[in-house]
Amino acid sequence: MRAILVTKDPDYRAEITDVEETGLPEGDVLVDVEFSTLNYKDSLALTGASPVVRSFPMVPGVDLAGVVAMSSDLGTAVGSAVMVNGHGLGEIHWGGYAERARLPADWAIPIPEGLDARSAMAVGTAGYTAMLCVMALESHGVVPDAGEIVVTGAAGGVGSMAIAILSRLGYDVVASTGRTSERDYLLGLGAHEVIDRGEFSEPGRPLGKERWAGAIDTVGSHTLANVCATTRYGGTVAACGLAQGMDLPATVAPFILRGVTLAGIDSVYCPRPIRVTAWRRISDLLDAERLEPMTTSIGLAEVFDAAEEQLEGRIRGRVVIDLSR
Ligand code: NDP
Repeated sequence: MRAILVTKDPDYRAEITDVEETGLPEGDVLVDVEFSTLNYKDSLALTGASPVVRSFPMVPGVDLAGVVAMSSDLGTAVGSAVMVNGHGLGEIHWGGYAERARLPADWAIPIPEGLDARSAMAVGTAGYTAMLCVMALESHGVVPDAGEIVVTGAAGGVGSMAIAILSRLGYDVVASTGRTSERDYLLGLGAHEVIDRGEFSEPGRPLGKERWAGAIDTVGSHTLANVCATTRYGGTVAACGLAQGMDLPATVAPFILRGVTLAGIDSVYCPRPIRVTAWRRISDLLDAERLEPMTTSIGLAEVFDAAEEQLEGRIRGRVVIDLSR
């Protein structure tokens, strides 16, 4: 099968190659992969910029969607359309950048009605994580008329999806971006205002003027600290990313003086019932027409350049990888 394989012997290398299917890991379901995606973590794995890959050789790709080719699991029918997000795909278990994948049946989620393999991957881990962030805001009482919600890393995958979801639900969304050239794109997704990410990216004060009823932060570091410091009394910040950095140079002031909640979001090992709920809600909220403006399609050979672009912050929205190209 055609695949991207990451090796380390001793130099780190990622290349397209033909791989024997016998090399596939254990699992009760074999999937003919039709589409995968490029997530930030995939770009780190492809370039070796961060130690995402923890077992070698590895097929990267944290997401995949396709059709079940073989199954020894009674609940997973041959011919059914499934997708997998996370669970260590592309990190410790061969992932979506190959024509076939084998994995445990309970990782596979039926593609919900309203989506197909391509649109499910247009959403991908980025969109599913954005949905988890929105669900965290909801569960902490941040309702659509609560006030402004700021989304950082707005023109990226998680950010774009978060704006689209929040705006569909009726929230008042402010997009924070370093690319003001993407203003029309962000307004088109449903943001009502676009601000320069420079407002957040430098060291700030422990507390600032209260503005946000809630926030979805994909950036971390000073940005997350400043977002917390400017969140209104009782507000919630859902933190899922580290595009600026893994550090959090903050004080406890927003939490102990304003009752702000910092909600951590993990998509990789999120329990199945929550995943299924998130995907059902995504399929209710976003159709192919809404996904198209934020989606670019590429083939496996174009993934390497796209990964470099992503780490330089130049990818807009979502990148779908078509395994047939
Ligand atoms: P993208 O690369 O698509 O988007 C990241 C965005 O962050 C960029 O588009 C840019 O937005 C902004 N950005 C980049 N560099 C900087 C910087 N130095 N300072 C401030 N902002 C910056 O990635 P994704 O949207 O796929 O992922 C976003 C983050 O979320 C990543 O850190 C990723 O690892 C994490 N993630 C976490 C998950 C989880 O389970 N917790 C799941 C999925 C993703 P702009 O140009 O608009 O400023």
